[in-house]
Amino acid sequence: MTLETLSDSLTKIVKKITFASLVDERLIKEVVKDIQRALLISDVNVKQVMDLSKTVENRALKEKPKPGLSKKEHVLRIVYEELVALLGEKKEFLPTAGSRIMMVGLQGSGKTTTIVKLSKFLLKRGLRPYVIAADTQRPAAYEQLVQLSESMDLTVYGEPENKRSIEILKNGLLKAKKTDVIILDTAGRHKSENELFEEMKEIQDVFKPETRLMVIDSSIGQQAGAQAEAFHEAIGITGVILTKLDGTAKGGGALSAVARTSSPIRFIGTGEKIDDLEPFDPDRFISRILGMGDLKTLMEKAKELDELDEGQMENILKGDFTLLDLQNQIQSLKKMGPIGNIMKMIPGLGMSLPKEASQVTEEKMDKFITIMNSMTSKEKKKPKIINSSRMRRIARGSGTKTEDIKELMKYYNTMKKALKSMMKGRFGKGPLARMMRGMPR
Ligand code: GDP
Ligand code: MG
Repeated sequence: MTLETLSDSLTKIVKKITFASLVDERLIKEVVKDIQRALLISDVNVKQVMDLSKTVENRALKEKPKPGLSKKEHVLRIVYEELVALLGEKKEFLPTAGSRIMMVGLQGSGKTTTIVKLSKFLLKRGLRPYVIAADTQRPAAYEQLVQLSESMDLTVYGEPENKRSIEILKNGLLKAKKTDVIILDTAGRHKSENELFEEMKEIQDVFKPETRLMVIDSSIGQQAGAQAEAFHEAIGITGVILTKLDGTAKGGGALSAVARTSSPIRFIGTGEKIDDLEPFDPDRFISRILGMGDLKTLMEKAKELDELDEGQMENILKGDFTLLDLQNQIQSLKKMGPIGNIMKMIPGLGMSLPKEASQVTEEKMDKFITIMNSMTSKEKKKPKIINSSRMRRIARGSGTKTEDIKELMKYYNTMKKALKSMMKGRFGKGPLARMMRGMPR
């Protein structure tokens, strides 16, 4: 089971929620069990798994869905949020010209490979990496670096015959330019090897790197947490890079264990090739692993809905839909594309919206807002009073034509009518009303 397998089982869980006929306690308990199984197989710490399950279950059962989210979306959102929380916060890695980076970690963890990957990352951002090869233990460590960086514009400083890493470091520093990002490759070390730990500190005293990155092979699973902590105690690491996530069953364990330490995960390595390195972003990582690009959209939608003011929802619920509501709605929904798209995302709504209302372009929405900005608040609250002389005034004020005002009024009336009928529905409980109250479909 690799990360892909974890992704598969989590994707199945998402599907289970999406296609469930009923979102009830039984389904939630089942989903929580499935999540537990997937995470435990991925070597996530038992206590972390239990904490997460409890939170998901409690939230799914007790929290009321936000108005605008269906019960399914509500549960999906909680699963998503809690998985993201398991992986900690995103920490940007932004070295600048003149930065100094020391790479440490056990032998074979992927330091040298990652240095070349990181160099490429820096080159793409207009920085100039300069690598000092100070691993004096691995045979042909310098040659490995040169070979890996063959296709890149990377300067590697090395003294293949010299066995004293401090000397190499000092000489290498003399040749570095002021604006170079200096990356130091070191020998693999083990935490029980006290002597080597001491040497690492010596190197640190000479190099004085503000960035100390630890490279960890993620196939050790949750052990990664203890390893990061041991190195942190010795030299105060500023971040972790987890490698080989592409080939391990224990990726979830490694990620969640390191996330719990005080050292943030900066990058993840997902393959042997030079491009297989990505900045670590829990949000993006989880949406990918859950196999749903849409989930990201759902989260954004939820955030936008959070921003909608509650009174406005209430008004719409009561059937009072004014131009003021329309203005607010357009403003808060504009970021998400044509209003029809939003409506389509809300279960039960997409079908019922009249075509002309759902085909309003972004450009038109902008125009509508300009027009509404030229209206008095009285006009917006009581659109009925807008007669032709008011229309002419509004058109003049907003630099538009009276036809534009008429179009807006037509759009407003269509929306109002559509909302009204959706509120009522056939049995007095239209889909919109249910949606607003967050009731399951
Ligand atoms: P070092 O001893 O810490 O410098 O480790 P190396 O950079 O020499 O890497 C050890 C092995 O791990 C090499 O065969 C690399 O190709 C491999 N490796 C490093 N990172 C990754 C990764 O993200 N995915 C995979 N599949 N292999 C990796
Ligand atoms: Mg190496």
